[in-house]
Amino acid sequence: MNSIINYLFWGFVAAASVFLLMAGITSFREGSQRAGSIFLVSCIALLCISVLPDRLISENEIFRIIFLSVGLFLPGIFLLPLSGIHKKDTQIPQKRYNESDAVLSRRLLEPGTEAYAAYYRDHSGYKESDNRARGNPGLLSENSRYFDPITFNAARANFSITEHLHRLDVLKPARKSIQADSKKQTSFIKDWMKRTGARSIGITELKDYHLYSHKGRGPKSGLPIANDLPHAIAITVEMDHKMMSYAPAGPTVMESSEQYLFSGILASKLALYIQNLGYRAKAHTDGNYEVICPLVARDAGLGEIGRMGLLLTPSLGPRVRIAVVTTDMPLDYEEKKSVAAVVEFCTLCRKCAINCPVKAIPEGPMKMTGGVSRWKINSDKCYHYWTVSGTDCGRCVIHCPYSHPDNWLHRLIRFGIKNNLLFRRMAVKLDDVFYRKIPPIKKLPEELTYRKNR
Ligand code: SF4
Ligand code: SF4
Repeated sequence: MNSIINYLFWGFVAAASVFLLMAGITSFREGSQRAGSIFLVSCIALLCISVLPDRLISENEIFRIIFLSVGLFLPGIFLLPLSGIHKKDTQIPQKRYNESDAVLSRRLLEPGTEAYAAYYRDHSGYKESDNRARGNPGLLSENSRYFDPITFNAARANFSITEHLHRLDVLKPARKSIQADSKKQTSFIKDWMKRTGARSIGITELKDYHLYSHKGRGPKSGLPIANDLPHAIAITVEMDHKMMSYAPAGPTVMESSEQYLFSGILASKLALYIQNLGYRAKAHTDGNYEVICPLVARDAGLGEIGRMGLLLTPSLGPRVRIAVVTTDMPLDYEEKKSVAAVVEFCTLCRKCAINCPVKAIPEGPMKMTGGVSRWKINSDKCYHYWTVSGTDCGRCVIHCPYSHPDNWLHRLIRFGIKNNLLFRRMAVKLDDVFYRKIPPIKKLPEELTYRKNR
């Protein structure tokens, strides 16, 4: 009996120590010094607690039984399939949103022009706040708080090329239509996009509420948007964790622009491919959207809309950029898999709201907005901060617990969050312990700046 308990005890200690050691090494490798240190200290503490009784008392069987019971019972509770999820995401907008009302469209109105006068005649409520933002240095401005010649100019280059992609956006009339096999095309497109860099891809029926009612930017600004293509393909690409970890400084806007460009390239080549087959297709890329990408991606099964109003994907959280292609080519849809655990987690976690420098994200529960129960961020406050910082900030994105690198350790935690409501609660607290509740802004590495670190 004694020897069985001994085997079990030392087997458990060995397994737990290896787990903690591997978790520590993984954390150091992903750049989380604090988490790595906590795992290694826990590993040493576990070994000390296991060995000490042998040194202090001769008969320690009782201690080993208690130790084993607690050690196996606790993880057992957290692995039980108690998801506790009872609500599904029901954020279906009741009407279409006019892109002209988005803060990123309003900023393009130039004082003194007819468009400016006409817009604020009908929307005087926005005028004061917009003019205040116009008085700030502005996005990518040399006078902004985080201006840096390297990252800002790299971002400018990326945004310029992304703008060139808009020229490819022509809905060409069908040349010579082939009868596309929907199953074959769906499978080919998914393989092709993933092989060339997409992180996830999904297809959905294009619904009315996916589309803006009117264009707010570009040469077609002010024109109504027709719902005349039946399908939408949503593509996500990953934003680099290390670059985003410098948020809200320059590397964030550089990385964000990088992935706007990359997702734009993927969507543009896909739209051109479909047109080459003789079908209509339109790429929706940064600065040239007719659809609200997070809603399309959600309905295509790629995630849910979280507290910060962005798409939260199961494996990378909000650390993605999205592009969409709408088309009339026959395609197969898959049944949308519910990832409601993500929204359940958001109701417990408020990390994005706590870390937002201007408190633009609500900390409370969802509220009815336009007939929909949801969290509504204050995009004016958020954009104002961008015009001061010069970057698109991203603190909410990188400090979301879902944004950790997609490795075995965080996959295990995400599994627990999905599977067990007790684990979900514990994960919120542990994320604060391992990664801090309000992490400080990281200093830039020398290779990414000409400025002295502040
Ligand atoms: S990007 Fe920054 S300012 Fe905007 S909501 Fe997120 S944390 Fe707040
Ligand atoms: S930080 Fe927390 S509350 Fe905010 S989106 Fe991520 S999981 Fe949800």
